[in-house]
Amino acid sequence: MAATETASPAQTEALAARLAQRLQPGDVVLVSGELGAGKTTFVRGAARALGVTVPVTSPTYTIGNRYPGAVPVAHLDLYRFDELGERDWEDLEPYFEGTIAFVEWPERAGGVLPEPRVRVSLRPLGGANRLISLEGVTKSLQIGISRP
Ligand code: ADP
Ligand code: MG
Repeated sequence: MAATETASPAQTEALAARLAQRLQPGDVVLVSGELGAGKTTFVRGAARALGVTVPVTSPTYTIGNRYPGAVPVAHLDLYRFDELGERDWEDLEPYFEGTIAFVEWPERAGGVLPEPRVRVSLRPLGGANRLISLEGVTKSLQIGISRP
C-alpha cells in the first residue's frame, strides 16, 4: 500500500490524476474519509485527468453522476444511505457499466459494490495536510512527502 501526504487541494488532485492514468473502464475506486477530508477533491482531479471538463461536484440529489467521454466516468456518493442492499443494486448498476467509477462513502453500500481496483483513504492531518493511502496500486504513485 502506498501512502502519501499532500499539502493542498491541488496536490491531492495531482495524485488522483496520476492514479487515473492507470485506470481502465470497469475499474472501481472506493474513496473513504470523513466529511471534508477531500474525497470529492480527489475524484475531481481524477475526472479532469480522464477528460471530464464539466464541473465535478458531489452528487447531492442523485446517487451519482455519469460524465460522458472517451472513457465515461461515474461519481457516486452514498452518504445519505444507511445501508444499501441487494435490491438497490439495480439503481447502482448503470453507473458501473463501461465506466471508471469513483464511490464516496462506500461503507454505506452494505457489500453490494463490485470488487474495487483501488481503495483510497484520506485523513486530515491539520491545516491543508492530508494523508492519502492508496491500496491496490504500486508505490510509484507516491508524490511529495511519502511514508512507507
Ligand atoms: P469530502 O468530499 O471528503 O467531504 P471535499 O473534497 O468536498 O471533501 O472538501 C475538502 C475541502 O478541504 C475542500 O474545501 C478543499 O479545498 C480542502 N482541502 C484543503 N487541503 C486539502 C488537501 N490537501 N486535499 C484535499 N482537500 C483539501
Ligand atoms: Mg464529497
